[in-house]
Amino acid sequence: MPAAIISIGNELTSGLTVNTNATWLSAQLATCGVTVACHVTIGDDRAAISDAIRRTAQRCDVVIVSGGLGPTLDDVTRQALADVLGEPLVEDPAALANLEQFFKKINRPMAPSNRVQALRPASAACLENHCGTAPGLRARLGNSEIFIIPGVPREMRAMFSGQVAPELAAHSGGRVTLTAKLNTFGAGESWIGEQIADLMRRGAVPSVGTTVHDGVVSIRIYAEGEKQPAEKLLRDTSAIVRQRLGALVFSEDDDTLQLAVYQLMVQQKLTVATAESCTGGLLAEFLTDVPGSGNVFAGGFVVYTNTRKREDLDVPAEMLMRHGAVSEAVALALATGAQHRTGADFGIGVTGIAGPEAVEGKPVGLVWIAIADKHEARAHAHHFSGERAAVRQRAAQMALARLRWKLLGLPAPPGA
Ligand code: ATP
Ligand code: MG
Repeated sequence: MPAAIISIGNELTSGLTVNTNATWLSAQLATCGVTVACHVTIGDDRAAISDAIRRTAQRCDVVIVSGGLGPTLDDVTRQALADVLGEPLVEDPAALANLEQFFKKINRPMAPSNRVQALRPASAACLENHCGTAPGLRARLGNSEIFIIPGVPREMRAMFSGQVAPELAAHSGGRVTLTAKLNTFGAGESWIGEQIADLMRRGAVPSVGTTVHDGVVSIRIYAEGEKQPAEKLLRDTSAIVRQRLGALVFSEDDDTLQLAVYQLMVQQKLTVATAESCTGGLLAEFLTDVPGSGNVFAGGFVVYTNTRKREDLDVPAEMLMRHGAVSEAVALALATGAQHRTGADFGIGVTGIAGPEAVEGKPVGLVWIAIADKHEARAHAHHFSGERAAVRQRAAQMALARLRWKLLGLPAPPGA
């Protein structure tokens, strides 16, 4: 059952607004067992909207249109649908009553312009809007079912979930598309791809792919079919991916690396302190992203200059002179200093060259990350590529990842 998503609005075609509706609708349609064949974005142009509905309805069983249902002159989706159907607009008494009721509830007079929102093409049905004024529309065009829903994301989501999704699920004969997302940090996308190449080949069931966002490589699994077999397929494939990638996988769905670290720290009742040079506090920011992080974050030092490294964390001047600020010895001294000063279970030291200029004859992207506990301290050198912001971000993420592996009692996994 292929579907088309048509998004309406000059703010979308001009690039002023990011089309989040289409993204959200695609994901939702997949869970209803509906495959999205295309996304179309059209400005507030009546003829162009009619044309898009007509063309997509020829190829798709379902057409979802969002936007342009408002009361203003630039909202023309209603008329465009009437044009395609070749029907006049008629007033829907129930929709008008709902509109009047809405304004009564918010204690405001209804503007005459709002009345157009109770109009529908003669053969169409209205979909109730429980969080705004514009009712949606549903109509049949040839073999295609057309749903028109508001552009305002909150209203769009409520109407889709409440009134469109149940219809589609009924039509799909119990077929669904389920997705799982496993998030990894530490290895590159190509390395990950090699480990699961057999799962990612074209035509494999379920289908598996990777995406990268902010250094996190996510493995997405899509399983289609009846609900229970699809769930099993998803579970089994997730287990294989986890087994191949080991401790690189830190979470599922949208859970962050910082949340994964926080949860382990809370479980083990442990605390951490940070001493940051090149990341300038970014690691502390990540650690305090999670609500409740006061229970695990014992404090952070931003020691950007050598003076601060010496005075705040007792890094010996002689060590700084001999090895340079970006060195294994200094990373270890930062980690141990942060741990000692705060009495935390762990101290993390980060020192590196974020760029754009090389320093101390060392290359841009070199970052030493050390973790100290009450018994020992270890440091690792990393070479991150990219601009200054990317180097700083990867360094802070890698510090979190290393702390996580330490909490799990595991060495850095292969690929990292
Ligand atoms: P209203 O009754 O509020 O006018 P409408 O159905 O006419 O509803 P639009 O005017 O098209 O909706 O959009 C209202 C607002 O919703 C836009 O200003 C925009 O911020 C947001 N919006 C519309 N379409 C999208 C979209 N595809 N993705 C994200 N936001 C959107
Ligand atoms: Mg509008």
